[in-house]
Amino acid sequence: MRTIRDFNLRGRRVFIRVDFNVPVKDGCVTDDTRIRAAVPTIQLAREQGAKVILASHLGRPKGAPDAKYSLQPVVSVLAAQLGVPVQFVPDCIGPEVEARVAALQPGDVLLLENVRFHAEEEKNDEAFARRLAALADIYINDAFGTAHRAHASTVGMAALVAERGAGLLMERELAYLGRALHAPEHPYVAILGGAKVSDKIEVIDKMLDVADAVLIGGAMAYTFLKARGVEVGRSLVEDDKLDVARTLEAKAQARNVRLRLPTDHVVGDVARPDLEPQTVPVTATPSDLAGYDIGPETVAAYRAEIAAARLIVWNGPMGMFEQPRYAAGTNAIAAAVAEAGAISIVGGGDSVAAVNAAGLGDKITHVSTGGGASLEFLSGLELPGVAVLKNPV
Ligand code: AMP
Repeated sequence: MRTIRDFNLRGRRVFIRVDFNVPVKDGCVTDDTRIRAAVPTIQLAREQGAKVILASHLGRPKGAPDAKYSLQPVVSVLAAQLGVPVQFVPDCIGPEVEARVAALQPGDVLLLENVRFHAEEEKNDEAFARRLAALADIYINDAFGTAHRAHASTVGMAALVAERGAGLLMERELAYLGRALHAPEHPYVAILGGAKVSDKIEVIDKMLDVADAVLIGGAMAYTFLKARGVEVGRSLVEDDKLDVARTLEAKAQARNVRLRLPTDHVVGDVARPDLEPQTVPVTATPSDLAGYDIGPETVAAYRAEIAAARLIVWNGPMGMFEQPRYAAGTNAIAAAVAEAGAISIVGGGDSVAAVNAAGLGDKITHVSTGGGASLEFLSGLELPGVAVLKNPV
């Protein structure tokens, strides 16, 4: 796959699909992480004399213009970070866009309006993709977080531009995640949490091919525990996934992978905030309470696995960490990953938030910008937005 560094950009119209899907409140960007992450690619293009065209989606505007999802608030934030003016046009196709693109000078930056203001974007409509492609001499995808979706700005138009490749952020994502998938260091410890087993079956299955230990936390642990015959009270269980859990356990055993489950947990009742949470062994779960966090014994066991690892991949919180009383387990795992001295890759909005809230983000080797995309990639699936960058037209 070619990257932005492989092209002669001087004087060319370089269309960069970025991920500016940032939170906006009252017309202001409240978290600029994704904008900052795209800056190196944009700066490189400018320094090489490209005419830079930026496109992104923001939110879910249902295929029509909606001021709430405008990319306009990004303009001033991006301009401040680049140290140059950023132009904005209130659409992503059409005569005005074409005129503004035609007027660009080398080094200029033009941000297009939200591509999802057209329903054709998510349908990967060919005519729409052609109109986007007509704006570009070179297509660069730097939006790893949407690479698992075959949309017009991520796949359709890319196939129509002869010169195409990855941006620096996309390249970095593929390098780290690719290493975990294809050439992992050992011991390799995968930590998987979150609400549902059903979302993570494929990634757990794949991890059992490559990892030495898979540490399970969050609500999805209860489906595994119940499948082992443990009474888990009111904890969240996916009863239709008990067989899947048993199959995964059998695979772990056959492959000699340590599939670890919590041995103790913090139980309570979110509907009764007056009730003090208690820490109990998972085998002693009161029938009227639910587990919301892993307990200290589990943290210690997981920490020992993490401390011995040379490669760690973490996706999904260990409990209902949005509530401080159920956040200790997730925070302890974040600290253990940061201190491990291993290559660490953290993905998924919740785990990334936990790491950042603990001020540990810079101690993680690679914080992935893509939750769903990183899970699909680590499951061994080919992301359409990546595949199209590789294949000849
Ligand atoms: P996911 O989107 O699958 O990564 O799940 C994240 C969500 O799972 C977070 O909002 C957590 O609050 C929630 N969660 C994690 N553990 C538990 C649990 N033991 N009980 C209920 N919700 C949980």
